[in-house]
Amino acid sequence: MKNKELFIFDLDDTLTESKVVIDDEMVDILAGLLSHKQVAIISGAWLPQLKLQVLEKLPQRLDDIRKSRLHIFPTSGAAFYRFENGDWCPVYELRFTDEEKSEIVEKFSDAISKSEIEMPGQIYGERLQDRDTQLTFSALGSEAPLELKKTWDPDRQKRTKVHSIVKELLPQFDIAIAGKTSIDVLRKGVDKAFGVEMMEKHIGILKSEMIFFGDALFETGNDFPVVKTGIECVEVKDHEHTKRILKDFLQNIDGDI
Ligand SMILES: [Mg+2]
Repeated sequence: MKNKELFIFDLDDTLTESKVVIDDEMVDILAGLLSHKQVAIISGAWLPQLKLQVLEKLPQRLDDIRKSRLHIFPTSGAAFYRFENGDWCPVYELRFTDEEKSEIVEKFSDAISKSEIEMPGQIYGERLQDRDTQLTFSALGSEAPLELKKTWDPDRQKRTKVHSIVKELLPQFDIAIAGKTSIDVLRKGVDKAFGVEMMEKHIGILKSEMIFFGDALFETGNDFPVVKTGIECVEVKDHEHTKRILKDFLQNIDGDI
């Protein structure tokens, strides 16, 4: 781990619980890590959600040098932001056209009917959220409480069914099961592996100097694409597990100085 230059993290269930703001201890740990290494966060979440969970809290603890080492890749790498002149500025953004958005909305509604899965009656927020560079279907809605989300599709069976139908209907897009109740639609070829390629290109760090931490590296998980990039991957159980690994690492590295 010591010879790695870029530490890449998934967000939900890796740095924090799903949709929850990162806690003070994680902020301290990441601030410590940024004194030594560059950090990228790549998530299925879009920028407003990343701002809420991470960027309204972590950068306050950082000086300008450490801020410049923090790289934010929302929507699985469909966009890249870094801190410049006091704000988060896009390096690139792959947006959907209005025609593409309407087609996705239509085909999702067809897939839900075909799947014959009963959708919950009460929706919290939007069921298909436009995240500029990604459209996200959330069965209970984008604002659903975590406790409800945990119980709706814990074995992923419901989403697996909808996912397999929608994949047939929208072969021109990449579609992946994500989070607790979601299915993400992205441009073809955009996944966390694409994000890693963009990191190499735009940050200028070799893959052999990258390490990735994620909770869903299993074959159907949204971190799985990273495995095929060949970079070192660490599977974590939850954010407390990530903390333990990073605390050990920082203790060793600080001890060496
Ligand atoms: Mg995750």
